[in-house]
Amino acid sequence: MTAVPDPSPPAYDRSPATTPTRYRDRMRYDADTVHAVLDDAFLAHVSFVASGQPQILPLIFGRHASRLYVHASSGSHLALAVRDAGDAGLPVSLAVTIADSVVLARSAMHHSMDFRCVVAHGPLRRVTDPDEVALGWRTMIDHLIPGRYADSRPPAPRETAQTGLFALDLVEAAAKIRSHGLSEDEADRTLDHWAGVIPLRTTAGTPRPDNGVTTEPPTYLTHWLGTHS
Ligand SMILES: Cc1cc2nc3c(=O)[nH]c(=O)nc-3n(C[C@H](O)[C@H](O)[C@H](O)COP(=O)(O)OP(=O)(O)OC[C@H]3O[C@@H](n4cnc5c(N)ncnc54)[C@H](O)[C@@H]3O)c2cc1C
Repeated sequence: MTAVPDPSPPAYDRSPATTPTRYRDRMRYDADTVHAVLDDAFLAHVSFVASGQPQILPLIFGRHASRLYVHASSGSHLALAVRDAGDAGLPVSLAVTIADSVVLARSAMHHSMDFRCVVAHGPLRRVTDPDEVALGWRTMIDHLIPGRYADSRPPAPRETAQTGLFALDLVEAAAKIRSHGLSEDEADRTLDHWAGVIPLRTTAGTPRPDNGVTTEPPTYLTHWLGTHS
């Protein structure tokens, strides 16, 4: 397995690629914050260029230390572009977004959202080492619901040939966090429009067992449901 990079000092590069032109005070480069946002997010969007065309895909992902794993069919544009990129890997940008609230201002212009995001840039490479393939799948499945991988059949060699596992090392990565709620022009505060913050959160619904499932949800699942209700 290729060594996972260790952010040292425990912060990611503040490079031109991870420096926005606006609201730089909202950026966080420390690994603890970047990891916490990644761990709270359910899905990632991965952008890349294939055959000269910009592409973007929503994907399941998982984090192991400073490495992210995603997967895609071996015949997909993403997998073929990674193959064609060779040892250098395919340049990608990966974003995760958590919408924490809708911010309703009195003025149309000041409507906004509170959010936590991470954007990472770097080369995506296909993982072929069998031990790392197993680690990557465990990482992604347990990212969905901790403990789930051990309660599932591991991928078979035929499946890991058909579906590629890909790794992105966090080097150029940063979080951006907006959390201050409403901000608007002082002159607008007397306008007669409702204004305020509407918190959002992702909650789990009632589980629907598949046909043939006769047992109660296992402990790891009831625990997760309890923390997401
Ligand atoms: C749910 C949501 C809705 C948003 N809606 C709007 C909108 O309607 N209009 C708008 O202008 N902005 C919006 N933003 C903010 C937007 O994501 C950018 O942060 C913002 O446009 C700043 O652009 P920039 O030109 O300064 O960044 P750029 O200079 O284009 O960014 C340079 C680099 O900075 C980093 N970066 C920039 N933004 C982020 C981010 N959000 N998270 C992590 N890293 C980042 C990336 O590495 C990026 O490659 C929204 C964000 C979220 C999460």
